[in-house]
Amino acid sequence: MYVPLLLNDFLDRAAKLYGQKLAVINCDGREYTYAELNERVNRLSRGLQSLGVQKGDRVAYLAPNTLEMLEGFYGVFQIGGIIVPLNTRLKPEDYLFILNHSETKVLVCDQELYHQIAPIREKLQTVENVLIHYADDSCEDIHYDRWLAQFSGDPIERPEMDEQDVCSLLYTSGTTGNPKGVMLTHRNNYIHALSVQHHLRVSDKDVLLHILPMFHVNGWGSPFYYTANGATQVMLRKIVPETIFNLIQKHKVSVMHMAPTVLNSLLQYYDQNPQKFDHDIRVVIAGSAPAPAFVTKVEDELGWEFIQVYGMTESSPLSTFSPIRSHLEELPKEQKYRLKAKAGIPMIGCDVKVVNEYGEEVAWNGKEIGEVVTRSNGVMKGYWKNEQATMETIQNGWLHTGDMGTVDEYGTIEIVDRKKDIIISGGENISSIEVEGVLYEHPKILEAAVVALPHEKWGETPHAFVVVKPGETLTEEEVIQFSRSKLAHFKAVTGVTFVEELPKTASGKIQKVHLRNAAWEKMGKAKDGR
Ligand code: ATP
Ligand code: MG
Repeated sequence: MYVPLLLNDFLDRAAKLYGQKLAVINCDGREYTYAELNERVNRLSRGLQSLGVQKGDRVAYLAPNTLEMLEGFYGVFQIGGIIVPLNTRLKPEDYLFILNHSETKVLVCDQELYHQIAPIREKLQTVENVLIHYADDSCEDIHYDRWLAQFSGDPIERPEMDEQDVCSLLYTSGTTGNPKGVMLTHRNNYIHALSVQHHLRVSDKDVLLHILPMFHVNGWGSPFYYTANGATQVMLRKIVPETIFNLIQKHKVSVMHMAPTVLNSLLQYYDQNPQKFDHDIRVVIAGSAPAPAFVTKVEDELGWEFIQVYGMTESSPLSTFSPIRSHLEELPKEQKYRLKAKAGIPMIGCDVKVVNEYGEEVAWNGKEIGEVVTRSNGVMKGYWKNEQATMETIQNGWLHTGDMGTVDEYGTIEIVDRKKDIIISGGENISSIEVEGVLYEHPKILEAAVVALPHEKWGETPHAFVVVKPGETLTEEEVIQFSRSKLAHFKAVTGVTFVEELPKTASGKIQKVHLRNAAWEKMGKAKDGR
């Protein structure tokens, strides 16, 4: 018999098997069991129905990682709604675009973020109601807590749903341009969750600290597999290293997912506060190609096992995992960390290939570069109201990631660069990621981003934007010489701009497009148009 895979199965399972277990430790200290969480979700679903939300309607969330955000997932799915999680660091005009573009019916907003909505409120074309989390008495919209309390927490009758129904519209990070609305189905998220939880060996003993914002696809996927297994989820409203270290100890956190930039800030904090630090962390998960030196620090100094993942919003998101494989154990540490710094091997259920310009798989020699393409149950239904972009991205069932990579003899994929970020100098491809990896080895460099600048002789040349660690000084020449000492000379940076900070997306990704555009314009060239 066909039984559709629906995301509420995960909470149903937890409420049944782990009903009295601690489900959520909220950022304000409130704690809820899975039975209580389930009740709140039922109240929310009833409340949304009372506002006229029906199957297929969009409900947007503008909130940090809170209990209310988590319950929103299941409360919206349960009645067949589509959740639109909003990046908390956008500008009012961006919210206006997304809310109108997604034709959102109800907006749920954290009081702390409402000032971003107020200026555009009159221009929202489809939003009928606004619910406010953590509302104070000045709230003129629906006060979430008081509103929720009116509804019964008994199980509700669910509409008929199919696993191919869209459950979320996730807008991409906008690292390379305007965000696109990615339509993910229940099936996409469900099968992705099963695969990730297998690789991470999630259990009811786990305590997850929600660091990655849940509005972003990486953070968005994790509640599913931690809920299904009855793990405890600790909410984090704001990323502050000291708070994170305190929570790790206080709640015996065992697992964290985060952007490498956040992991980097934790390493910096630890360097400056090298007190004895007891912890129960069994694994930390990060994406975005950190250097082996970074992995060494995490594993050897902090004692956290490091797992690298690779993926994109369009694939729910993960496709590969740096695996614990038997051959890794036998390797010398340095080589092991080198391998762990790669994107990893395909997850179960994901077909991932690196193909050349003719669509043929490249040789497994770690050298030949091609585009990473993937086919799996996690691949999106398409971009919302953008068939053209969908057709360009999914060809013959394969998702074209726009990322360039290699495959080694073990089948491990390494991301060389985004097609858009690769630097072509004198006809040679230079990976900006590789050059950044070297710069991160410099003891005085806090952060670095390398982009292509136009060059009369070579076409393009690598230029570094560098943030120096507090209290340190560094010259352009020192950085250039350092990169020349570690890299083939054609890959070494030829110029450096020192900056206070790098532009980042809300999930912590460095937006090289802004750096490139500003630098090109300063040189009197048009925007690079990538
Ligand atoms: P936009 O598509 O709007 O420009 P984005 O691509 O950053 O933004 P996401 O879907 O959040 O939006 O990010 C996916 C991208 O992140 C991948 O295509 C890849 O370029 C990068 N990425 C993710 N994991 C890794 C990794 N392990 N190594 C290198 N790059 C990674
Ligand atoms: Mg992208």
